Amino acid sequence: MKRTFPFSRILTVLLAMAVVTSLIGLAAMQALAQSDDPASTAEPDATMEAPAAADATAASDVEWTVNDMTFQSNYPSGFEFTLDITSSAAPVARGRVVWTHATGTNSQRSQTAELDPETGELVADWVVQGGDAVPPWVGVTYTWQVTDEDGNAFETEPEYAEYEDTTREWLRVESEDVIVFTEGLPEEVGPLTVDAMAEQRETYRAAWGDLLPYKPRAILFGDQDAWLEWRLGLQNPRVIGTTNEHWGATVQIVYGGDIEDLTYGTVPHEVGHLYQGQFTIMTPGSWFIEGNATFFELHQQYDYEASIREMATAGQLPALLDGTGPGVSGNNARRGYDIGYTFWRWLVDNYGLDGHRELIQLLDKGISRNEALQTVTGLSLQEIESRWRVWLGASDTPPTLFPTPTMFFFPTVTPYGQ
Ligand SMILES: [Zn+2]
Repeated sequence: MKRTFPFSRILTVLLAMAVVTSLIGLAAMQALAQSDDPASTAEPDATMEAPAAADATAASDVEWTVNDMTFQSNYPSGFEFTLDITSSAAPVARGRVVWTHATGTNSQRSQTAELDPETGELVADWVVQGGDAVPPWVGVTYTWQVTDEDGNAFETEPEYAEYEDTTREWLRVESEDVIVFTEGLPEEVGPLTVDAMAEQRETYRAAWGDLLPYKPRAILFGDQDAWLEWRLGLQNPRVIGTTNEHWGATVQIVYGGDIEDLTYGTVPHEVGHLYQGQFTIMTPGSWFIEGNATFFELHQQYDYEASIREMATAGQLPALLDGTGPGVSGNNARRGYDIGYTFWRWLVDNYGLDGHRELIQLLDKGISRNEALQTVTGLSLQEIESRWRVWLGASDTPPTLFPTPTMFFFPTVTPYGQ
């Protein structure tokens, strides 16, 4: 979540969608654009059927034939899959669809199909319920798992579709780095976002060790009615953005006209959160995680570092590594983001993006933040905190003098300068 100064904004509610751990081997696939018009899905049948039938034959002598496969977006209430398939051995008994919004992750959902008694087709209807809503324009990469009455099982090759909103005028811009959807916003938002993401590409790669396994989406609304519509049961009007690794997307409602902040600030920040979710483990709602996302912004609303340097010279820096550090909610939220930003800035200035990568890899193994920091820097916690403060221009000593070399034991202290 990106914070706007000086307003305090509510924390993004990250929807914890159920993560099914079983892998179904969604291999890297060709993004095959597919409309929701059932007629248009009829033509790829031949290419879909051939490799699948060959595989099935090799395994069990049962030949499966895909006659028709469709995806239909019923935005905002859900989407529906249909499959017309036959087995050479026996009538089809049951099927289900498994899909992901972010390929290359373990994030999956599924819907059991019903067999239409008239057409013999399998129909899987996913209907939004409660807090389950997903925004328009997420990708849907799906496979069918089907079983016939003899118990023969078959899985289709992955297909790709999008949860289209055809009720509004959306602009779609896609590049190597991002897919941007805008509605009710100036035309240049898409291209500027593409430019910003291209500019940050190698920084992301170096900092995280690789790019995201999927192409992130920025779904940007300019119209509040449209924004509230997709959220259905989640209509807290104070929420102005959500970034969700299961969707592989950030979704934002934009009031006001700072296009540069949106495209070069908010989106790279939120994509930073997608990298965090993909590559490491960090405590949500902490200066550490928000400072890290802020590090990836290419546009700042003001000079974050300068504002914290002023605090430092005034002797007002709070303790950082001892305890929870500055908060990132409430009236002083922005300050917590900025302090966190300076810490990551200091770290990368001294240890490079390699240092960033080593740190997040240690965190990903479950190593604590402070232990990982000591490993990467080769310094004690006190030295780390002291050097960061001196780098910011503080002339005082760190607020906490760790009394013994014992790690993980910190006396209760009064934070300095509060
Ligand atoms: Zn954030």
